[in-house]
Amino acid sequence: MNTPTPMIRLTTQRQIILEELAKVKTHPTASELYDMVRQRLPRIGLGTVYRNLELMAENGMILKIEVGGTQKRFDAFTDPHYHIRCSACGKVDDMEVPVIDELVNSAAQNSPYQILGHHVEFTGVCPRCQKKHNHAATTH
Ligand SMILES: [Zn+2]
Ligand SMILES: [Zn+2]
Repeated sequence: MNTPTPMIRLTTQRQIILEELAKVKTHPTASELYDMVRQRLPRIGLGTVYRNLELMAENGMILKIEVGGTQKRFDAFTDPHYHIRCSACGKVDDMEVPVIDELVNSAAQNSPYQILGHHVEFTGVCPRCQKKHNHAATTH
């Protein structure tokens, strides 16, 4: 999308969903976020949370990330950035590496496509799972 889309109306529901999403760096799934939002909006339904998330993602207010073919996750941090997924527990973290613009440029030069973006997903083992693994190895 090259033309800026007008922001959708920020209803109370969306405001709260956005606030809850911005509180965490865990890239929650819709149902995880639903559990958080429900503390503040006990009457809200999962379907409503899901629809609002999709809508806000389409409008660029949040990021929708699809990593490793698992459930969709959401991110309030919309600057381009990479993610790393733990292959043991499935946790998704932000990756503190610069986004490689050259990749997009060289893709644009070498492909007839109009390149809109790219995403990189790192896979690894998170510190907690590393500890668990080491622990299991030493106690055996
Ligand atoms: Zn892990
Ligand atoms: Zn992120």
